[in-house]
Amino acid sequence: MEEDTPHPVRVDSDGVHVPEAGRTADDGRPRARVLACLVLAAVAVGCVAALDPTTLRPGAWTLAFIASLVLGTAVGTALLAVARRWSGAALAAVVCGLQGIVVLSVLANQSRAGGVLNVVLLLPLAVYAAVYLSRRQCRVVMAALVACVGVVMGAVADGVLQWISLTALPVLAFLGTSEVVLRLRTHLEGALASLVEQVATDPLTGLLNRRGLESRLPRAADAPTGFRCVLMLDIDHFKAINDRFGHEVGDEVFRRFAAGLAHETRAGDLAVRLGGEEFLVLSTTAPDQVSDYAEALRARAAEWMAEWAVTVSVGVVSATAGEDGVARGDVLGAVAAADECLYRAKQEGRNRTVVRPWNDARPSDGVSTSVG
Ligand code: GH3
Ligand code: MG
Ligand code: MG
Repeated sequence: MEEDTPHPVRVDSDGVHVPEAGRTADDGRPRARVLACLVLAAVAVGCVAALDPTTLRPGAWTLAFIASLVLGTAVGTALLAVARRWSGAALAAVVCGLQGIVVLSVLANQSRAGGVLNVVLLLPLAVYAAVYLSRRQCRVVMAALVACVGVVMGAVADGVLQWISLTALPVLAFLGTSEVVLRLRTHLEGALASLVEQVATDPLTGLLNRRGLESRLPRAADAPTGFRCVLMLDIDHFKAINDRFGHEVGDEVFRRFAAGLAHETRAGDLAVRLGGEEFLVLSTTAPDQVSDYAEALRARAAEWMAEWAVTVSVGVVSATAGEDGVARGDVLGAVAAADECLYRAKQEGRNRTVVRPWNDARPSDGVSTSVG
């Protein structure tokens, strides 16, 4: 688990998303809502306790304190409930603030039993920190919690020995609970990350699959992807390989081709197995170099698979000079255009590359750059 990334992966109704480095998967709203519920529950418990004259000794100071407590927490809860982007640090600060309020309420409480019981209110905050905050924030919250318990027990204990025993029990229980929850969370996040990895990966070749490609693109439709060309690569007459050598050899050809692609594509490029014997490369290669790049890949592919005399056809669309890369929402259109170029490469006899600019709607105007 990342030290300070509370939720490294997210599962939405539209699929599993792996956030890019530095992008937070959680906008803080769900965490703020849970905290709001905890605040409300604590206030409800506090109100019930306040109605019991044996728990709180009545007096002007006590009543004023309870009134400000209820008002403050109500306003705080309303803010938390509508909060859209609460950072983990802000939530950790709120948790520590709540701990302080519990301590104050215990100090205002003259009944020893009631004071000790109120310490139990700190437990949900410890669990909250372990579930929602980063490890570092959780450590801060737990340190504050230990200090709170020490202060509370100091107010109600008779002597040092009693203070130690009264403090040790809840502290051990809180730290133990928080550690168990943290470990469970680490385990679940690890399992989920591995599941996301599997869902995004083609098991035969280890390349990204369609879903993996989706997860690597920015989410906003108009966001630039940084890619300036799209290459569709399709192994020629692959069916004949299966028929001649069998499916196991066919699988080995795929693995060899995919390993070559992964090795040969440039840093920042994405190699994807779209399905069957169709592969996609999204590349940052400049428009004036894309023909050479695609041709080099095609020639290298023939070398990787020379054992079976396999060739590859390539369809390419690219930005024109000075044009920005493809936006997220245009990737599918660019892939379809590259597929049209690939179709034309097949029609023209296979083992060749067809390139055209992606804003050119007529694939027949594409330039057939090379024949192997
Ligand atoms: P073309 O040159 O027109 O591309 O002809 P082709 O035979 O390569 O294309 P076609 O799409 O007709 O056949 C693709 C074959 O790829 C059909 C299918 O049996 C085979 N194939 C698809 N996925 C796998 C796989 O995972 N393993 C193996 N061994 N074969 C597969
Ligand atoms: Mg094929
Ligand atoms: Mg095909």
